[in-house]
Amino acid sequence: MNTSHLSLSELPLAFQEQMQAQLGADFPEFGAALTQPAPVSIRVNPQKPALETSGLEQVPWCSDGFYLPERPSFTLDPLFQSGAYYVQEASSMLLAEALKQTVNLNRPLRVLDLCAAPGGKSTLLVSALSDDSLLICNEVIRSRVSVLRENLEKWGRPNVVVSNHDPEELDKLAGFFDVVLVDAPCSGEGLFRKDPDAMQEWSEANVALCSARQKRILAAAAPLLDEGGILLYSTCTYNDAENTDNVRFLAQNGFRNRSLNLPADWNIVEKKTDGAVGYQCYPHRVRGEGFFISVFQKTAFTASVKLDARTFRSIRALRPRETAAAAKWLKKPSDFSFWEKPNGDVMALPKILEKTFLFLDVALRNKGFGLEIGQFKGQDFIPSHALALSTAINPNLPAVTLSKEDALRYFKKENIAFDEPVKGWLLAQYNGLNLGWMKGVGNRVNNYLPKDWRIRMDIKEYV
Ligand code: SAM
Repeated sequence: MNTSHLSLSELPLAFQEQMQAQLGADFPEFGAALTQPAPVSIRVNPQKPALETSGLEQVPWCSDGFYLPERPSFTLDPLFQSGAYYVQEASSMLLAEALKQTVNLNRPLRVLDLCAAPGGKSTLLVSALSDDSLLICNEVIRSRVSVLRENLEKWGRPNVVVSNHDPEELDKLAGFFDVVLVDAPCSGEGLFRKDPDAMQEWSEANVALCSARQKRILAAAAPLLDEGGILLYSTCTYNDAENTDNVRFLAQNGFRNRSLNLPADWNIVEKKTDGAVGYQCYPHRVRGEGFFISVFQKTAFTASVKLDARTFRSIRALRPRETAAAAKWLKKPSDFSFWEKPNGDVMALPKILEKTFLFLDVALRNKGFGLEIGQFKGQDFIPSHALALSTAINPNLPAVTLSKEDALRYFKKENIAFDEPVKGWLLAQYNGLNLGWMKGVGNRVNNYLPKDWRIRMDIKEYV
């Protein structure tokens, strides 16, 4: 990502005219803000409280969100690599407040993040939900699914499914969800100063294309919600042809708009369209980028699918002896049931959601369940990286605390040297968080970090 500052002359002329019309007398201030560096912000993982946040300024609309005084090298921070926090633009954390005001988060919910990669909002959602809620994180573009999975594995929650479907293919899940987030692919005007590439792709024709695509996605999302369910529609653009048009589309198609009560000093702009309201962050008014969100409640009735756990499924329940072998890797194995996929991956499914997971195993073709804990190889059980990062892992497994230097070597996938011989599986830890597995064989300790997760940056000056 390019972090050099944007100059106004780089902005497409038609975009400048559009913003001038939208902002009037505020336009020069907006323009000036775009020439300033974007603020750096992170959102901490409440289940992995390892980052010291005292002294950091909180994002007003998200208690887990914090501004950093400068941009560190996140890649070289073992806490980032192990899921203690996610680097997220502050305005988009407004989702946390929108949820709080419109959804009862204390009850079990079925939630869909329909356009989920790379997973920023998915990690926010799963942290906001109760443990007995289910989050499906769906991404249509296959090449973006691995980063989504990686980010959710780092976050470590077991009540998550990652899927790879076109929104229209999810029609088997009619009426299934209490909450759907459509964080829509958009023209990205709100990210121009952070990501000048978004500017290169901008054109009026592309805006029209994005608007129509969003409408198709929203039309596919609508039947997935139960009556009374909440639809959150968000973009990172200012464009009325996207935001306003689609707010109007929802308001006219079986949804009631829900307003939010936002303190005036947050400086977020209410945008009204035919009585429906959406909320726009502008970089000259908030410490964040251009984000838009509008919340709706479904009024139309949709017959809900029935969970049918009798249908043929691809996964098999583990036998008692296998279950005993798998169970010892978890903190509270009695909360889970254990299953094996045809490829040998062993899954721990939260019992409270078992029926739902079994239904989803049939209803979704391309999916990965939250907690794939490893594989049996002969008599041995090979624990997975996802297990090492999961908050459900047994905290009493053999572990070794690494220095920052050795933690970085671990993430370079180098083998770590030990004074004493080490035998068997061993968790690499840093600051109380698991980084991944190592295994002692003979006088060597092998590094089991998945090779795709290896950091490619030079760490010489840090170790
Ligand atoms: N929610 C993500 C986050 O917070 O990290 C960002 C999502 S991004 C704004 C929009 C996503 O929609 C992209 O991952 C993109 O691949 C996906 N997308 C693109 N075309 C789509 C379509 N036709 N239907 C559904 N999703 C689409």
